[in-house]
Amino acid sequence: MKSPYFTLEHEAFRAEVRAFLDAEVVPHAARWDETGSVPPELWKSLGRRGWLGLAHPKEADGGARDLFTSVVFLEELGRTGFGGLRAAVSVHAYMATHYLARFGGPELVRTHLAPAVRGDRVSALAITEPGAGADLSGLSVTAERVGDRFVVDGVKSMVSNGMTADFLVVAVRTGPAGQGPRGATGLSLLVVDTDLPGITRVRQRTLGWRSAGTAALTFHSVHVPADRVVGRLDHGFYYLMRGLQLERLVAAVLAVGGAERALEDLCAFLRERSVAGSVLAGRQALVHRIADLSTDLAATRQLVHHTAWLYEQGGLPAVECSMAKLRATELACRVADAALQLQGSHGYMEESSAARAHRDARAATIAAGPSEVLRDLIGRDRLNQPGTPASPARRA
Ligand SMILES: Cc1cc2nc3c(=O)[nH]c(=O)nc-3n(C[C@H](O)[C@H](O)[C@H](O)COP(=O)(O)OP(=O)(O)OC[C@H]3O[C@@H](n4cnc5c(N)ncnc54)[C@H](O)[C@@H]3O)c2cc1C
Repeated sequence: MKSPYFTLEHEAFRAEVRAFLDAEVVPHAARWDETGSVPPELWKSLGRRGWLGLAHPKEADGGARDLFTSVVFLEELGRTGFGGLRAAVSVHAYMATHYLARFGGPELVRTHLAPAVRGDRVSALAITEPGAGADLSGLSVTAERVGDRFVVDGVKSMVSNGMTADFLVVAVRTGPAGQGPRGATGLSLLVVDTDLPGITRVRQRTLGWRSAGTAALTFHSVHVPADRVVGRLDHGFYYLMRGLQLERLVAAVLAVGGAERALEDLCAFLRERSVAGSVLAGRQALVHRIADLSTDLAATRQLVHHTAWLYEQGGLPAVECSMAKLRATELACRVADAALQLQGSHGYMEESSAARAHRDARAATIAAGPSEVLRDLIGRDRLNQPGTPASPARRA
């Protein structure tokens, strides 16, 4: 049956990505979880294939491919079942570098985006601080203009790829807070090389996403050339609000892939595990659990694909991106929980795929907008619309 979203070309690409990940990535990914980072060879290998710049423009050696090519790539990345790997790659290719591709000038494209697309340099996005996460108006890392430099001071935390990144896209305060929407004016995005004097990074030990190399970074009088501002000075809040929609969509796609893997592994276990003389896959109570999870996953996948389609139309569907992320990341938690429970003690083993899915799924309902913030946004939008909402495609 023809898909409204995927062409034969997309499916051929899916087969290529899956074959590569199964053969060259998945066999090593558990070790990367132990060491706490993905190795430089992975970046180079993905870069050589053009998979770190699928959506980026040609000028940055990007593929300028349609969004559904990225959806395929991210679904397959999610389906590896390794949350740290999917966080590391997606933060680099769809979050940090997105700002350079979308809002950066030609010089930043040449010096930072192009090497990142090739896999020669690793990037990270540093927004969160110890004192401010979901609320951007509370960000306090400062960048003070002194001659032809910015002097950066403060602390960022929970930065995925923070331990290995060659450069960061950092949300900094360049102007006074407390004016404009949500008091988040006066923010800028600054590209900061991590080898500059005055930067220290400390690993943060997290429950899941272990190979993502999460770090806290301290900036002590770090001198950054003034031409490293992404786009326009003091426009960071506007850029972040746009970038966050893509972040949420990407998180939703990855969660669908992760849930798919957890469900596949669970079904394989139930088909093989024999209890009291018969395989668990024959127990009606378990068959019905699988039916419910499969149905929820199919519905969620459709919501995510529809949201990707809306996004590609260019309307920036903020509510739908929030819905897709909320629904997909919470479903991934439910599937992971069922996978652990129904594999009994086998699922509870530290190194089991069910335990890893459980740990990794939890991160995604917090990062890129906690579920509570998304519910707030979705609920308020609905309450502000009298009567039946227009079709999302029309509203966009
Ligand atoms: C594994 C992981 C990786 C991450 N990677 C990155 C990264 O690469 N770069 C980066 O900058 N950040 C990253 N983050 C940080 C993430 O974006 C923040 O955790 C998130 O924005 C929430 O901020 P916070 O943790 O400070 O929680 P807070 O803002 O302190 O909120 C705590 C809790 O309060 C509730 N809450 C908050 N606001 C509201 C509200 N308006 N209404 C109702 N309830 C609310 C929510 O339950 C929320 O979880 C990562 C986080 C995790 C867990």
